[in-house]
Amino acid sequence: MQQHTTCPYCGVGCGVAATIENGVMTGVEGDRAHPANYGRLCVKGSALHETLGDRGRLLAPRVDGREVSWDDALDQVATRLAAVRDEHGGQAIAGYLSGQLLTEDYYAANKLFKGFLGSPHLDTNSRLCMASAVAGYKRAFGADAVPCNYEDLEEAELVVLVGSNLAWNHPVLFQRLRTAKQRNPLMRVVVIDPRVTDTCEIADLYLPIAPGSDARLFNGLLAFMADKGRHDTRYLRRHTRGVEEALAAARAEDTSLAALAEACDVDAEALETFYYWFASQLHVVTLYSQGINQSTSGTDKCNAIINCHLAGGKLGLPGAGPFSITGQPNAMGGREVGGLANQLAAHMDYHTPGAQALVKAFWDAPHLPEEPGLKAVELFAAVERGEIRALWIMATNPVVSLPDADQVKRALAACPLVIVSECMADTDTLAYADIVLPATSWSEKDGTVTNSERRISRQRGMLPPPGEARHDWWIIAQVAKYLGYEEAFEYRHPRDIFVEHARLSGYGNHAGGIPRLFDISALSDLDRNAYDALVPLQWPVTAEAPQGTARLFETGRFATPDGLARLVPVRPALPEQAVEARYPLCLNSGRVRDQWHTMTRTARAPRLLNHRAEPYVDIHPQDARAHALVDGGLARVFNRWGEARVRVRVATSQRRGDVFIPIHWNAQFTGAGRVGTLFAPLTDPLSGQPETKHGAVACEPLDVA
Ligand code: SF4
Repeated sequence: MQQHTTCPYCGVGCGVAATIENGVMTGVEGDRAHPANYGRLCVKGSALHETLGDRGRLLAPRVDGREVSWDDALDQVATRLAAVRDEHGGQAIAGYLSGQLLTEDYYAANKLFKGFLGSPHLDTNSRLCMASAVAGYKRAFGADAVPCNYEDLEEAELVVLVGSNLAWNHPVLFQRLRTAKQRNPLMRVVVIDPRVTDTCEIADLYLPIAPGSDARLFNGLLAFMADKGRHDTRYLRRHTRGVEEALAAARAEDTSLAALAEACDVDAEALETFYYWFASQLHVVTLYSQGINQSTSGTDKCNAIINCHLAGGKLGLPGAGPFSITGQPNAMGGREVGGLANQLAAHMDYHTPGAQALVKAFWDAPHLPEEPGLKAVELFAAVERGEIRALWIMATNPVVSLPDADQVKRALAACPLVIVSECMADTDTLAYADIVLPATSWSEKDGTVTNSERRISRQRGMLPPPGEARHDWWIIAQVAKYLGYEEAFEYRHPRDIFVEHARLSGYGNHAGGIPRLFDISALSDLDRNAYDALVPLQWPVTAEAPQGTARLFETGRFATPDGLARLVPVRPALPEQAVEARYPLCLNSGRVRDQWHTMTRTARAPRLLNHRAEPYVDIHPQDARAHALVDGGLARVFNRWGEARVRVRVATSQRRGDVFIPIHWNAQFTGAGRVGTLFAPLTDPLSGQPETKHGAVACEPLDVA
């Protein structure tokens, strides 16, 4: 029997057809009907069935190291949370969620923390993935709204990939782009990245940009377009504000090609070619990802890109737009329900006019906070300071994934109450848990996710959970009941949560003020059969657009009070973690092709380890020589924050002065491959996204004798 679901690994959100025989998943293939992938899967996706089984799973709840019944565990969670709230207030409680959670899990958690526990401190590891893109879209469009879709990528005449190793991190999208390029010989691809990656295979032009100089490069493009008469003045006049200010900010620095080429450390002729291509094509998609977002000026970088699209009228039409791609499978779904500390619910912020009264009334919430909560990095700092005394972590492993990862260890050790909901038995974070709650995993969980093109898809439960594992939404709803909020969390099935979420998305919308773009109210009446049969749809899904919406802003009207998009003045800033004499190498981090996050799942498929079997540092040959490192040897990479011990790979793909370490390895696998220990806890002031593409480190040979 074949069942249809969605891949849990990345923001492409591929449809998967899984074969189940005698209660065992024996194989997977791409779902030919799913619009994200039309039958394709990448290596990780095609090994999904090899990562299943009870081995390594959490099978029973534990309280203070002792196995207990679910009744006891839920009672303990509720009793201890209530004690913290009663003694210290809701502000002393925090939740840290994950883009792995389904939308229904996220919704229930957001409602419990913000509406009923009175805690605004509910954030997510998606903060590490796309928070700058969210802030950039909001500043430009008035809403967190990705304007384009995967077909736009195929229909473009020019695709600019900046800060994105699409070939490794979103492989199916890369396959789609490569095929489109083969079919359309006129299509051009430009790759802008400090590293030569596999994505460069399809590049007509490659700019090995100096790390952190992206905003300068796009500011230069804005000025170049103006100088060459390539601003779409009609579009700018009718649909935007702020072009003069944005242009003045760009011209505050030297915008001659020679100066820009020097600042970005690229060849001036190549830069001019890119500028000409961008300026002269209408159908341009600029796709950006963590290389842009994970920066202390990530939001500005996003807006520098969006400015160029607005200036040329290159959005709201087929094959055009600034397109941020999320790393996680449900980073978008988490944004929809309000699962970020600065959001309230349903794409409303705390200060969206009327939002607090609306959400309070809809939930009948007794304790809605009035101000936003702490974002991931500052949240863990508050835990260490003792301001947060109860922390519930769901489906994520912050001891490995957050910057200044040793601070996270200290914070968890100091926190009086740490609750961890997790499906795997051996994550680094579990060592700090007072209460452990076994959760279901992919193939068992049932609900929805939203991919990078706003497409909501079903993830289906196909196999029974092992041991005592329970769904996250169920655990949250049960805790709510033990806290006395039974009526508000009377959910019997994820469908009940989804339709409530859909109703809230339309609740009070269009009643005055600015209509919210995120609206799926046409899905409010799904019964269980209709929910189970839900086909992938792109939001908004409304009475006017019951089949969803492929592309936004086609009319040129945006979600701002006056309907006009904003060009934002950007003053390029250098990364805050600058190299210095003691730490002379610039550290970059990212994923490898066949692994996922902290490897808790992908490491279970041996063939996925064939690609890269151990943590490593890529370093330019001249830097390797200068630091006495040899290919295949071991290195200690260190700075004032921590250290990692890794294998040396001498690679000409690196710029001189830059090194790259993948993010995946953790104590479980090597003891010392955690790159998170090497990044300072510095974040973008607008988005709160940490800077994990630009650290400063030293390297030395590791003597293992
Ligand atoms: Fe899964 Fe992403 Fe690969 Fe698609 S591209 S199969 S969603 S990991």
